[in-house]
Parts: sequence; structure tokens; C-alpha cells
Amino acid sequence: MGTDKSSILTRRASASQPDWRVELSASVTDPGTLLRLLGLERSLLPAAHAAARNFGLRVPRSFIARMAYGDPRDPLLLQVLPLQAELDEIRGYGPDPVGDHNAELRPGLLRKYAGRALLIASGACGINCRYCFRREFPYAGHSAAAGCWQAVVEAIAADRTIREVILSGGDPLVLPDDQLASLTSALAGIPHVHSFRIHTRMPVVLPTRVDAGLVGWLASIPVPVTVVVHANHAREIDTNVAAALGRMRAAGCHVLNQAVLLHGINDDPDTLVALSETLFAAGVLPYYLHLLDRVTGAAHFDVSEDRARQLLWELSRRLPGYLVPRLVREIEGHPFKAPLSPLPPDETFEAEPLPHPL
Ligand SMILES: *Cc1c(COP(=O)(O)O)cnc(C)c1O
Ligand code: SF4
Repeated sequence: MGTDKSSILTRRASASQPDWRVELSASVTDPGTLLRLLGLERSLLPAAHAAARNFGLRVPRSFIARMAYGDPRDPLLLQVLPLQAELDEIRGYGPDPVGDHNAELRPGLLRKYAGRALLIASGACGINCRYCFRREFPYAGHSAAAGCWQAVVEAIAADRTIREVILSGGDPLVLPDDQLASLTSALAGIPHVHSFRIHTRMPVVLPTRVDAGLVGWLASIPVPVTVVVHANHAREIDTNVAAALGRMRAAGCHVLNQAVLLHGINDDPDTLVALSETLFAAGVLPYYLHLLDRVTGAAHFDVSEDRARQLLWELSRRLPGYLVPRLVREIEGHPFKAPLSPLPPDETFEAEPLPHPL
């Protein structure tokens, strides 16, 4: 966690606005608690415990509140519940599917694409997504927060080709406001850094994070700021999330969304259309729809390229162009995230795919 215990304990939550640190530390990390809160069968528990040993369960209670009670196939639940299928060894799936190690300029700084550098600002997240391509990433010693910000800032200052700095992770918004502010003020002092981007799931999973302090920090940044949030399903965006997204826009940020195409969660046309429309209603445009990165333990989420391209056809047919995300796959060594083109659905295309294998 990017926050220390004493700051969690000394800051009191007010009745109207719960303190996000308190909420974050009250996240559910025990599979038995999650199943009990949702009224689900205890038979799921041994597998959940076994899979959580590799990559822990973590989910804020406000996100659990958006799940349907008693439904083991709830699309929000399936993003966080550890399953037996994660323990299967599948060929073609490994610990570093997108070549992050080879792109590491120095610990905590990835340099893959022209003009952009990605800073691993924190090793922690507000939620642990089972499909995450960084689920195997050795954050210890590879996060810029691990006492080496100065060196990362110097490396960015020394490379005049870097125009945009992306704060990513983990999730940068698990860090306290003062740490974020000291990082961006150091970076904003570098003349060739023209913009910032923040890749974060916190406004979606823990919307109270977008509090007055965070909004004040965003508004104070002297260069354009793009916030790329991450929601995979329209049900993640309730009124609190929509309000948090609105506060970031009011602070002057461009707000975009990236999603991952996930079998059993959003791999059907109606769900993807609803996601784009719900984002739009919250003032957010879809940016990327990622094909799954083939990380160990996530094979059961994969969607074939043909099906993905047929879904893209359906989205392109049904939505205005600005609500159609770019369907991309990250390929190690490729100079940009590789786009896939729409494919007309054939007779094998099913609007409703097979259910997710529990
Ligand atoms: C995805 C990514 C970026 C950003 O790429 P865009 O196509 O500009 O969104 C930058 N650096 C790394 C290491 C990335 O993985
Ligand atoms: S929030 Fe993002 S980085 Fe964190 S576990 Fe989920 S997908 Fe991975």
C-alpha cells in the first residue's frame, strides 16, 4: 500500500465524505468474506484460497456493493474472484507477456514507445484484477516509489525525446497527494516534458479517491493532463463513479477509458455498446479495448482474435465512431500497440458467447 498506517489512523473520515484511505484499508482480501457478503456457495472457497496464494484477492467494499447478490457469474465478481482455472499451466502464457523487463530503462521506468515514458509510480492497486498483465511483475525494487524517484526524474530529464510522462503502476492514485505533487512538480520542471498522463483504476473502484485534495493537485499541474481510467463493464460506473469522473473533468483533465476484452465479462456486443454509452454519459470517451495479454493464470479470460474483430464490427455498426474503442494487442518489440480491424460476423458468430468457466 502506498499509504502508511499512521496516516490512515490519524485522518478521520467525515460522515458525508468517507476517507478513501479508510475505505482502501477496509478492502476485502479474504475469499471467505467475499463469498459470504455475496451469499455464494462455500464450495468455491478451496480453489479461491489456492489461487489467491499466487496473487492475492483485493477488492474495495464499494465495488462489491455493485455486484449482484447470489450470482457467481456476475461480471464484476469474475474480475476479482480467484478461480481454480488460474492454476492450470497453459502453453503460450508466461510471467512477462508484454516484454516489460526488456523495456525497463531503469528500475521503475519503462520506455517502449516514441516520445513516451511510463513510470511505475506504485506497486499497489486499489483492486487486484485476475487478468492483469502485471500480476507477475516483481514490483519490489521496480517501482519508482521505492525510494528512487530522484533517479527516475533525472533519467527523464536526460532524455530530451520524452514529451509525455505516464504515471502508471500498479496504480499511482494509491499514493498520498503530497507524494504525487512532489513527483509532478519535479517532472513539470523539465522543459521537454509537455504533458502528463495518469493510468488509474481508482476513480472506478474507489471513487472517494477523487477528493478535494486530488482535484486540487490535478488542477495545479501546469501542463495538459490526460487521465485514462479502466472500466470493463457498464455496471462498474454507478452514480458515485460518474460524479468522480466529472470532478476530474472539471479539474481540466481529458478523461478516457481503457478496457480489456474478457471472456464471460464483456465479450458480447450489447455489453460493449452499453459500456461505451455509459462512459459517454459520464463524459468519458473509450480509448483502447485490449486483447488479453497472455499472462500466467489468465487463459480462461482469452477471446480469440476473430471473435474480437467481429465484436468490433458490431460496435462500429451500432455506435458513432467516437464511441468505438481501438481494438489493440500489445506485441513485444512492436513500435505501437497493434490495431486489429473489424471483421464481418459470419454464421459462427454468437451474440451470447459460452458462459465463463467457473
Ligand atoms: C501502453 C503503453 C504506453 C502508452 O501507449 P499509448 O498507445 O500512447 O497509449 C506507453 N508506455 C508503455 C510502456 C506502455 O505499455
Ligand atoms: S488496477 Fe490495473 S494494474 Fe492494478 S491489478 Fe487491475 S489491471 Fe492490474
